[in-house]
Amino acid sequence: MSLTNRILLAMVAGIALGSCLEWLMGVIDPAAGLHAFIENGLILGLFDVVGRIFIASLKLLVVPLVMVSLICGMSSLGTSSRMGSIAGRTIGLYLLTTCVAVTLGLSAALLIGPGTGVEVMASAAYEAKAAPPLTDTLVNIFPSNPFKAMAEGQMLQVIVFALLVGFALTRAGEAGERIASWFRDMEVIVMKMVGILIELAPYGVFALLTKLFATMGFGTIVDLAAYFFTLLGVLLFHGLVVYTGLLKILTGLNPGILLQKMRRVWAFAFSTASSGATLPITLRTVEKRLGVSKSVAGFSVPLGATINMDGTAIMQGVATVFIAQVYGVDLTGGQLLMVVLTATLASIGTAAVPGVGLITLALVLQQAGLPVEGVALIIGVDRFLDMVRTMVNVTGDATVATIVAHQESELDRAIYLDPNADHDGDLEDSQTTGAAA
Ligand code: ASP
Repeated sequence: MSLTNRILLAMVAGIALGSCLEWLMGVIDPAAGLHAFIENGLILGLFDVVGRIFIASLKLLVVPLVMVSLICGMSSLGTSSRMGSIAGRTIGLYLLTTCVAVTLGLSAALLIGPGTGVEVMASAAYEAKAAPPLTDTLVNIFPSNPFKAMAEGQMLQVIVFALLVGFALTRAGEAGERIASWFRDMEVIVMKMVGILIELAPYGVFALLTKLFATMGFGTIVDLAAYFFTLLGVLLFHGLVVYTGLLKILTGLNPGILLQKMRRVWAFAFSTASSGATLPITLRTVEKRLGVSKSVAGFSVPLGATINMDGTAIMQGVATVFIAQVYGVDLTGGQLLMVVLTATLASIGTAAVPGVGLITLALVLQQAGLPVEGVALIIGVDRFLDMVRTMVNVTGDATVATIVAHQESELDRAIYLDPNADHDGDLEDSQTTGAAA
């Protein structure tokens, strides 16, 4: 069975076993030994531990991978000033797709009205954290200490530092060439580590999803069905229709291929609910399966994982209208425009980890003059939606990287069109190496 299919099978098996365990825990007497064994031995023991180790290993690779691939990407562009145009197109497309995403979320929610008739629960209480001023956010992009930035996983700062190193390498003559070649070797090694992790993914994904579905209550979904399904519908529409349309119009490439090749990344995004933890897999897929050059992939994908969150923006659009409807507030045109603006900014500021989209939602509500406690209404169903919106977030990064690469003549069409490119991750590499040996 191919690696992707094994990962997908592990997903289904994890969801099934997790749901079974949740059901079992409900019917077994809580005082029974079996109950304690399932809860403490399996769910909070084995599956939780394996899942956490898997996420830690993914995160481990993020900083080294972003550093080496950006430095290699920058240095392979040579002394040309193409980086400016790549950066401009990438950021432009990220902003455009996010604005479209919020607008879609808002429009669908206004049309469907998921919040009309929903009672405000008395227990709703949520305390918003104060948002840092915009000037700080800007200044914080520039690192004062590269090691601190890496240690804290401050991705924007790491990106800025790597760009600077890559740029300096291209201008440092022989010394630059020597170090650039060292980084190219390092990239092969880090990519190998990503390959090894992908091979272990079926186990990691299985453990993560079993634990999640064993502890995730689905009861609240019934109360919030209208919100849940409106949001899910818009997420699917954006992920499957908007991106594919954009790719087709701007590049003429067959979008079906991109979707087909993204399945492995989706499995990671769904089970980790973190575009940050998924980044190593997104980057490897974009480079090796979609054929995007190192310079574009190394820049667009890490940047996208940090600032491009269309799924999060859609959630914020739908949630704002939902909360306004629950509290009986009619949103004016000006308020809606404000929501588009702040949700775009908020999704940029959302960290690529589980659940942060809900925290930045408070900012959007505040700007629109809506009660921030409204966030409490949707917390119950957020985890599952977070998993799906993370899939949309990573699809956006891959689509934009492919479009930019195509426009900049940095796309290897042969790889894009080859259904077997990096099909089996490192399994394939080792087989080829073995055969060659
Ligand atoms: N979990 C999302 C991500 O990592 C962010 C969010 O919307 O909470 O992409």
